[in-house]
Amino acid sequence: MLRYDNFIHGERSPAAAYAANTNPSDLSDVIGEYAQGDTGDVNAAVFAAKTAFPAWSTSGVQARHDALEKIAAEIHARKEALGNLLAREEGKTLPEAIGEVTRAGHIFKFFAGECLRLAGEMLPSVRPGVGVEVSREPVGVVGLITPWNFPMAIPAWKIAPALAFGNCVVLKPAELAPGCAWALADIILRSGIPAGVFNLVMGQGRLVGEALTRHPDVAAISFTGSVGVGRGISAVCAQLGKKIQVEMGGKNPQVVLDDADLGQAVELCAQSAFYSTGQRCTASSRLIVTDRIYPAFIAALQARVQKIKVGDARAIGTDMGPVVSQSQLEQDLEYVDIGRSEGAALAVGGHPVDCHTGSGKKGYFMAPTLFVDSLPSMRVNCEEIFGPVASVIRVKDYEEALQVANDTPFGLSAGIATASLKHVMHFKRHAQAGMVMVNLPTAGVDYHVPFGGRKASSYGPREQGSHAQEFFTTVKTTYIHA
Ligand code: NAD
Repeated sequence: MLRYDNFIHGERSPAAAYAANTNPSDLSDVIGEYAQGDTGDVNAAVFAAKTAFPAWSTSGVQARHDALEKIAAEIHARKEALGNLLAREEGKTLPEAIGEVTRAGHIFKFFAGECLRLAGEMLPSVRPGVGVEVSREPVGVVGLITPWNFPMAIPAWKIAPALAFGNCVVLKPAELAPGCAWALADIILRSGIPAGVFNLVMGQGRLVGEALTRHPDVAAISFTGSVGVGRGISAVCAQLGKKIQVEMGGKNPQVVLDDADLGQAVELCAQSAFYSTGQRCTASSRLIVTDRIYPAFIAALQARVQKIKVGDARAIGTDMGPVVSQSQLEQDLEYVDIGRSEGAALAVGGHPVDCHTGSGKKGYFMAPTLFVDSLPSMRVNCEEIFGPVASVIRVKDYEEALQVANDTPFGLSAGIATASLKHVMHFKRHAQAGMVMVNLPTAGVDYHVPFGGRKASSYGPREQGSHAQEFFTTVKTTYIHA
């Protein structure tokens, strides 16, 4: 059994305890044993980062650019192997996993360029003979806390800007996906960055995450995960005066209007709801469909969902891999019971699947599940399920569709399928979401533009694209009298 240590000050750092991580497609396949860090490990990692900060933050943009370029090149060169690890560990299909790894490489490449594009401003002062310069500086030691569902891309979109703008990092990945974080850390540490600039401490959120959040030498926390944990971290950071960026859950609406192209609308709804086994913050589990197209839409969507082949994430021909864990599977099945008991009509799925019939292998497989004739007030339409469960809501017209779409505490992504420019323009302005998709699935995939939401989905500055500098730098205003 392979053991994976933490990385502190550029070295492998053994931990007091290790935990086995298994493949959700095959529970007999143990991927490795991963360090379970403690407060001592967090203290050592933060100390290493703090010690490395003065030199790294003033090392110049060429060194940072070169390191990020090198990381990007290795990720891209090894995308098949890394994608294989991702699919094995998290359970998304191999093509999706390779796609995510490719995106992680693009993110490092993009931020290699951003090192060179960090601009400031020069303004005349209101006092004659005085100039004013507005510049950006690194924040210091940043703690990055990430979820399991995008175990390469999300760490990448936090680490890359943090390093690009001269910060030092301690990464705390999710318990369910330490393998991807370890592989990424291994690549980063071979890129030529000085010891201590990047550190990895794996382990429990309530121990390692909590210690990182509360550490006095950590200047900023960037978190992605659930609303409950995100709000708790935000409260602690506010109390301790730390900079905070939290990206959390979603209950994303996908509106389908009468004039939509039926085939296109069905395909994008199937992708929004069931890609990555529905385990995406941007997944759409609320399909809001207007009256006239409703009967044809649900018939066609039902047929499309029935065709989704559930199976081992790495098997050729699998459309949808397993759910990530036993507890997530139980939660998904509980929501099926809740939907039924509230009166939604179960049209497809709603049950676990045995994908290894006769082989003795077990995994957390669940059939893609579709409710129809559901009401906006039902719990399946109000709470984030985070699994392969979607519900269709019938509405009268566009106005009602918009009202239902916005009737949620969340505000991450919102989609509309229509041929009407008038409705597109209105929806774009009035959808209460950080991202709007027109005739596209609800996922936000581009790596060079901001990603994030509103309302209960997000708090703090946006991630990705040039907007990432807002969180990972701090502004200084200098008055100069020659
Ligand atoms: P989670 O909140 O359980 O865990 C996220 C991370 O926080 C993990 O690393 C965990 O160990 C850590 N953590 C847990 N308790 C902590 C504490 N008390 N202090 C500090 N850290 C702690 O979320 P998850 O189950 O890993 O991920 C699923 C959630 O993430 C969903 O709600 C999903 O919508 C959300 N998500 C959001 C986005 C986005 O960009 N908005 C992207 C992906 C996932």
